[in-house]
Amino acid sequence: MTPSQSPEANSEFEALGLDPRLVKTLSALGYEEPTPIQQQAIPPLLAGKDLLGLAATGTGKTAAFALPILQGIDTGGKTPAALILVPTRELAMQVAQAVHRYGKELGVEVLPLYGGQAFGQQLKVLKRGVNVVVGTPGRVLDHIGRGTLVLDGVGIVVLDEADEMLDMGFSEDLDAILAAVPEERQTVLFSATMARQIEAIARRHLTDPVEIRIVGADLPEEEAPKVQQMAYVVRRSHKLAALGRILDLESPEAAIVFCRTRNEVDELTEALNGRGYRAEALHGGMSQEERDRVMKKLRTGSAELLIATDVAARGIDVAHLTHVINYEVPSAAKAYVHRIGRVGRAGREGVAITLSDPREHQQLRNIERLTKQKVKVARIPTVADLHARRLELLRASLRETLLGDDFHRFRVVVESLSDEFDVVDIAMGALMLAQEASGGDSPEEMEEIPDATLWEQKPAAKGRGKGSASGKDRPTQRGGRKPGASGGSGAGTTRIFIRAGRSDGIRPQDLVGAIVGESGIPARQVGEIQITDRFSLVEVPDTEVDRVVDALRGSGVRGKKVTIRPERPR
Ligand code: AMP
Repeated sequence: MTPSQSPEANSEFEALGLDPRLVKTLSALGYEEPTPIQQQAIPPLLAGKDLLGLAATGTGKTAAFALPILQGIDTGGKTPAALILVPTRELAMQVAQAVHRYGKELGVEVLPLYGGQAFGQQLKVLKRGVNVVVGTPGRVLDHIGRGTLVLDGVGIVVLDEADEMLDMGFSEDLDAILAAVPEERQTVLFSATMARQIEAIARRHLTDPVEIRIVGADLPEEEAPKVQQMAYVVRRSHKLAALGRILDLESPEAAIVFCRTRNEVDELTEALNGRGYRAEALHGGMSQEERDRVMKKLRTGSAELLIATDVAARGIDVAHLTHVINYEVPSAAKAYVHRIGRVGRAGREGVAITLSDPREHQQLRNIERLTKQKVKVARIPTVADLHARRLELLRASLRETLLGDDFHRFRVVVESLSDEFDVVDIAMGALMLAQEASGGDSPEEMEEIPDATLWEQKPAAKGRGKGSASGKDRPTQRGGRKPGASGGSGAGTTRIFIRAGRSDGIRPQDLVGAIVGESGIPARQVGEIQITDRFSLVEVPDTEVDRVVDALRGSGVRGKKVTIRPERPR
């Protein structure tokens, strides 16, 4: 299906003051309405105000700052007009992609700048001329030092995920970068938490900012419904497989799966139908007639899954709904409460399941806090779980058959084999045949789905040490909290040896950046770091060692392949 456009959707984005070309792009992406952070942040940003925003990943904050930036850009300019600073290489790529996607109609040139990528390539693009730079602090500072990044024309700076950047020891780098940008500029700071350090950096660099706290700002008035709430943490690339596995285990009578955009609804519906589910799409781009037809299919049971956006699902009522599934964490607590309120009505039991990317986990925690209800994080069912469930179902239907009286015509088969085989063996063989006849296991069902939950994650500790690259004789230490364990060094953690050190220009923040960006573990899980002249040691939770080593081996450190391995036992 091609993305469809609806006039109502456009008008809400237009009402925020956005350029029609941007609105057109959003429509083509399948966005139906602005998220709360977009509603609150876009107008003041368009008006040129500084902004301090408290919002986690998954709230739509990237578009909240990217759209106003794009609107103000003169694409004829050669040097960057906007600078977006982010903590990791992964995020630099993601945000640059998002800005590029939103700015397509305007022809805006975007460049991500991160460590590990050759300078030459970055220089070539810089010389050609870019409008927006999205970079990690280390690499941006390197370019400033070399005189290869001209910031004289920058009119807006965004510090995205500022708390992560401070956590990684980038505070001084940020100060240095901001000092290199003209004072007459707009400054925007986004953070998932409002630590004292964030307030301090906001005081230093923002002028009379508009403050937006999306956490708590949209607390739903009605009480959250009492349904069983569960979440699975899974990377985007494994979501479809995880959803299939969950549907197989839960076997819902009828379920709604919520997506953020129309395009996602269409893609997911197609993918699920391809996997043998009876799924129907429902979104704001469909005519009333089409919607009625879909709802009828769900009511009569000829469809079991409804894949929908929030806008389209508003006001619909399906009595026999047993499950609500969030394919992504909703962008606001209010949307979450609305969605899960569709099950568990009139005393019936309902289940609400959320699939969360590791990066969206903070947003899920925010929702939990706001609704004052616990969302239990469960492990993705394994192949063994699926088999156990199938056996359970088989046992139930066999028992049903045995309670009936319809199976005696098979007596001749069993008796003729009973001289040669044990009767229990015959029964087991018969069950195997029955299961194979009903389709057996498809190859995708036999694959384990990686669970991205960081099980040992503990609440964040206060007062972590700051990275410091000073000190000649003693190794540089970043006094980190001990990840995943209490007490002395090493309990529940392993040190990773990296053959690159101070003489290679390695700083603690480079290591944290590489580890967080490449392996996806949060910065707070990176423990103590020691940097000597020739090598470095980084402490990570035992459970993450393989992930971190594999990721760093793949990416290298500062663009170089070096020896990386778990430290030999001390
Ligand atoms: P972010 O919080 O910026 O990481 O955005 C999370 C996701 O929400 C991204 O995949 C965006 O494409 C998507 N998104 C952002 N704004 C909207 C919107 N208004 N409607 C639907 N999806 C959105």
